[in-house]
Amino acid sequence: MFEVPYAMSIDGQRVLAVEYAQVINPATEQPVCDVPMASREQLESAVASAKTAFATWSRTDISERQKRVGALGDIIEQHKEAFIELLITEQGKGRAGAEWEIGGAIYWCREIAKQCLEDEVVRRQDDEEIVTRHTPIGVVGGITPWNFPLLLAIWKVAPALLAGNTMVLKPSPYTPLCTLWFGELAQAVLPPGVLNVISGGNELGQWMTEHPDIGKISFTGSTATGRRVMQSASVNLKRLTLELGGNDPAIVLPDIDPWGIAKDLFWAAFANSAQFCVACKRLYIHEDIYDDLALALVEYARTIRIGNGIEPGVELGPLQNKMQYDKVRDLLEDSRQQGHRFLLGGDIEDRPGYFIPVTLIDNPPESARCVVEEAFGPVLPLLKYRDIEEVIARANNTPYGLAASVWGRDLVEAERVARRIEAGTVWINQAHVFSPDIAFGGHKQSGMGIENSLHGLAEYTNMQTVMRKVLP
Ligand code: NAD
Repeated sequence: MFEVPYAMSIDGQRVLAVEYAQVINPATEQPVCDVPMASREQLESAVASAKTAFATWSRTDISERQKRVGALGDIIEQHKEAFIELLITEQGKGRAGAEWEIGGAIYWCREIAKQCLEDEVVRRQDDEEIVTRHTPIGVVGGITPWNFPLLLAIWKVAPALLAGNTMVLKPSPYTPLCTLWFGELAQAVLPPGVLNVISGGNELGQWMTEHPDIGKISFTGSTATGRRVMQSASVNLKRLTLELGGNDPAIVLPDIDPWGIAKDLFWAAFANSAQFCVACKRLYIHEDIYDDLALALVEYARTIRIGNGIEPGVELGPLQNKMQYDKVRDLLEDSRQQGHRFLLGGDIEDRPGYFIPVTLIDNPPESARCVVEEAFGPVLPLLKYRDIEEVIARANNTPYGLAASVWGRDLVEAERVARRIEAGTVWINQAHVFSPDIAFGGHKQSGMGIENSLHGLAEYTNMQTVMRKVLP
């Protein structure tokens, strides 16, 4: 771990750079180490190498590709503890969260490696046969955010390579270390050029989206950046998978036991210090149980230990970077100026690290910034409702449509409500359940396309129909 200096992986080689940037530990605001900033020429070599490798990798038997994608899980597992510590250091999350992410990365490699897209026989008659098959696209560009840096990279790498593509992967400039290290280790199990990992700033992402030899961009990040990606991808009509922001509602029905679900609801909102695309960001509570649930949430939240994730027992860490910290501070300041009532939190301690306390806001107006905007930080508005039709309309009144949850004892009613929500995933009495075989993707401005499952795998392919006719 902490190999100095961290290097990029291009054409199977360790590659350094001319320019470097610092990675900051968000819990201490101290530099962790320097990372290379790829030049345009280095992007060119990475793409050229991926293009060359594609010729062989795309024709490598699927069983061999499956074996190698599975082996990517093994190499992470061999260094599991080091990855966990590195992730805590660069991202800021607590140990349990880091274990979940690294364990997930291993599991995803192994499970995706079992997938396969079979040819579909559309028609077979005496003199003709029609078959639809999936062919790889070419060079895929992967661009990832800073909240789950390694897991979200694996969500792209594993299916892209399994489907026969090669790849250029760019982590967020805030959290590049686990991804760069994984890239280096991966060279031991992949032919040169199949997976190139390069680090750099936002402009590197833009160069990738404009590059004529990249056939697909798989992007996870904010909706604002997603729009820019879509614009520049039009250059060569790149295929796109966009996993973007969300402002997920949770609806709590009146028949629920407030004290029984407070803990689950807390984690639905605050896991990873609420830097979770699918965090519950608006909590709609029926008026009959509003006061009790608000109290239960406050009491549970008071038991949570916030601090530097490397210290044992810490459950929530800081925000990952200064930009996000300032954004959430600004949101809190706006609430204060609007006269919102804080049930908990709101005051930022003067200490090193980008720490924001868990903050619960008491029934702010529906038009308040803390309700309308994706906070991506531990600030949760509790919102009172009376009528179920009204709350469904409020939940859907957003340009986002990533995920949602409904909480109730009467499952028939809960499901009736769930089916009315405009979102790619709706959980009932649970949250944040993901799996390599469960399709995940956003509606509306939360994205386009799917990750995970065979639907997600198919997004790394073109469909080809082969029609055969026997000559008389
Ligand atoms: P971001 O959009 O700022 O950055 C994401 C990545 O895009 C980074 O690697 C960045 O360097 C790169 N980038 C920036 N500008 C670019 C450009 N013009 N062209 C190409 N690439 C560019 O997002 P972030 O702040 O890192 O992540 C937080 C956001 O990600 C939140 O909105 C969150 O909801 C969303 N997110 C979504 C999912 C999902 O699956 N839907 C998962 C995690 C995070």
